Amino acid sequence: MLIDPFGRKVDYLRISVTDRCDFRCFYCMSENMKFLPKKDLLSLEELERICDAFINLGVKKIRITGGEPLVRRDIMNLFTKLGRYLDNNELDELTLTTNGSQLKRYASDLVSIGVKRINISLDTLDKEKFNNITRWGHLDNVLAGIDAARNAGLKIKINTVALKGINEDEFVDLINWCGKNDMDITFIETMPLGDIDTDRTNNYLPLSLVRTRLKRHFTLKKTDYNTGGPARYMTVNETNQKIGFITPLTHNFCESCNRVRLTCTGTLYMCLGQEDNIDLRIPLRQSESNTFLIEAIHKGISKKPKGHDFIIDRISELPAVSRHMSTTGG
Ligand code: SAM
Ligand code: SF4
Repeated sequence: MLIDPFGRKVDYLRISVTDRCDFRCFYCMSENMKFLPKKDLLSLEELERICDAFINLGVKKIRITGGEPLVRRDIMNLFTKLGRYLDNNELDELTLTTNGSQLKRYASDLVSIGVKRINISLDTLDKEKFNNITRWGHLDNVLAGIDAARNAGLKIKINTVALKGINEDEFVDLINWCGKNDMDITFIETMPLGDIDTDRTNNYLPLSLVRTRLKRHFTLKKTDYNTGGPARYMTVNETNQKIGFITPLTHNFCESCNRVRLTCTGTLYMCLGQEDNIDLRIPLRQSESNTFLIEAIHKGISKKPKGHDFIIDRISELPAVSRHMSTTGG
């Protein structure tokens, strides 16, 4: 079992399988992002070996993310291999976070592999706004992907980044649309991760304000529902769905953190909001056995920090953390 210095059990691994993406969401990436050379990436076989080591150490949930995970070539091979751990009950859940652009193609394969729930990011239902936010994405394609996922039987949670002056007028519609389509929704505050072309503070919208506004339209009830993650949930009486709020900047969610994050180059980050990391690629390649790898994982967990210290303000010019969300995965 992996227990960190603060007594938290780490049983959740998130893997960013690629830093690349077919969108360029303005709050996530600059338009001219420089990506890693492909030769620096761990192979899918190496990623599976790391997952195997983590599963043997008690990890029960794996989320595949990115960049856009479904644009990595042959990614279904990794899903298929990891699906076998679900069959043996060594893993409780295999899931992914996606922008939805490739779901038409992959939704039914994901279900056959054993994936049951996925997160899909969608910030607006307005075509023009969607183009402005994602720069390269097409709303119709994503909506078709969401339909494909629902028809295949996947349970969906929509992730929406709350953006002042951009989508704040749409939250009621988004909640109603999710309610009608039997999907939960989680709102996320913008986090100061990685350099982008614009100033994120212009669009920072505290979710405390969003919640107050939503209460004018819906009866929101507190719930104990908790996925072990950073979201705090409320239920909407009118639609009987859950709304999550991820508030890294207005509420510190670190006390219950159960996760670590692996990048596509084999760097393990023990916290989304800290630079502390440990390399797993060298120990992985040092030997065919997992001895060095497991030693390095234990070392990483022993350095897991108590929490992040995100601040989004106009005084500091640099983002709190220099790597982009696509490096460590959302
Ligand atoms: N490409 C996939 C997607 O968009 O779902 C997976 C990776 S993306 C980095 C994961 C989540 O992070 C998305 O919901 C995205 O909206 C969110 N995200 C990206 N950059 C962010 C930032 N700076 N602050 C808050 N959320 C961010
Ligand atoms: Fe790509 Fe997801 Fe980042 Fe948008 S949020 S640019 S879809 S990785």
